[in-house]
Amino acid sequence: MENGSVRWAFGRNEELMASSAISIRGILTTIMSNLNQADQRPTIPLGHGDPSAFPCFRTTQIAEDAVVDALRSANFNGYGPTVGVLPARKAIAEYLSQDLPHQLSPDDIFLTIGCTQAIEVILTVLARPNANILFPRPGFPFYEARASYNHLEVRHFDLLPEKGWEVDLDAVEALADKNTVAMVIINPGNPCGNVFTYQHLKKVAETARKLGILVITDEVYDHLTFGSNPFVPMGVFGSIAPVVTVGSISKRWIVPGWRLGWLVTNDPNGVLQKYGIVDCIKGFLNISSDPATFIQGAVPQILEKTQKDFFLKIVNILREAADICYDTIKEIPCITCPSKPEGSMFVMVKLNLSTLEDINDDLDFCVKLAKEESVIILPGVAVGLRNWLRITFAIEPSSLKEGLGRIKAFYERHAKKN
Ligand SMILES: *Cc1c(COP(=O)(O)O)cnc(C)c1O
Repeated sequence: MENGSVRWAFGRNEELMASSAISIRGILTTIMSNLNQADQRPTIPLGHGDPSAFPCFRTTQIAEDAVVDALRSANFNGYGPTVGVLPARKAIAEYLSQDLPHQLSPDDIFLTIGCTQAIEVILTVLARPNANILFPRPGFPFYEARASYNHLEVRHFDLLPEKGWEVDLDAVEALADKNTVAMVIINPGNPCGNVFTYQHLKKVAETARKLGILVITDEVYDHLTFGSNPFVPMGVFGSIAPVVTVGSISKRWIVPGWRLGWLVTNDPNGVLQKYGIVDCIKGFLNISSDPATFIQGAVPQILEKTQKDFFLKIVNILREAADICYDTIKEIPCITCPSKPEGSMFVMVKLNLSTLEDINDDLDFCVKLAKEESVIILPGVAVGLRNWLRITFAIEPSSLKEGLGRIKAFYERHAKKN
């Protein structure tokens, strides 16, 4: 049969395309396609969430050795259990329990392919006809994509810039109804760089209890804090309302390519067990893929042996970078920062379009900035806030200064003249 006469049965999955329409990677690719190849200067990437390529952010040798040892032991060449290998689950239970009032058991820990798969697991488990879920705005668009692909209705509550990006808890109460299953928080915050206080997290838990919903807390940036608020895990309040914590080694150890994460039930009262959620988590893990077994095998050494000086070094670089960022932004009239970042790797700044001559919106700003100055930043639309920008400061401080200098030059060229 001639090729032209076959009518193939497959085609575009429109639902998939719609669910994935907004992704950080997709938008960054679009912006990068506008880079000017003739610009001799190096491109300054301030849009990413992966600083592993910069020499000052290289992971600790202890983690590298742990992987080599696990690989060479020949104990981790086979398939692991679907929930993850026991020594790794034990080590993660110990690691996380250090900051909790209750002791986690290995049975509370499920290993996943990065924090990403942990999000996929919990959103799939919670999806059922007519259910809705509450997400922060701004937020992390993978949640929206995953929820819509699972037919989970999404409702957004605001994070309040004038209150250090705290959750608008009145909005949470107003949005929730009898079909609401959970609310999501991200702490330390992406994209806002905020760190929630103990008191605020307690109020989140009390609100969730009142509404009878689960709190999903994304703590992928756990302990990456450098301001006045210390990191407090949401699991501390697991006896007020059940808490599912998702996390990974990707950000604290700066190894996102290793794809090792976890889903943890912080639920001293056993609510999730009683309502069948734990069974569903196990059920879903039976029909999905697992992190590479030798990476699982390396987890105990990574968590137990990493020295404080490695964490301190990383946090000190981030603090210095956040300071440079915050101080330099004050010198650029077209952007304002409502709240100094205290954690993660990002800051959100408001774009003041009225100060600019020929910029239509945040996306236009980012496209022209890439074209003219070879600087990449993420437009706020990608994280749910139009005419804001997310700037990553996890980059060598000298490059950060150079990048911010170019943003200033860009502003001066495009400033409204009056
Ligand atoms: C990076 C990130 C993730 C994904 O983490 P992985 O471990 O690389 O899968 C999840 N949530 C947030 C908020 C992130 O920034």
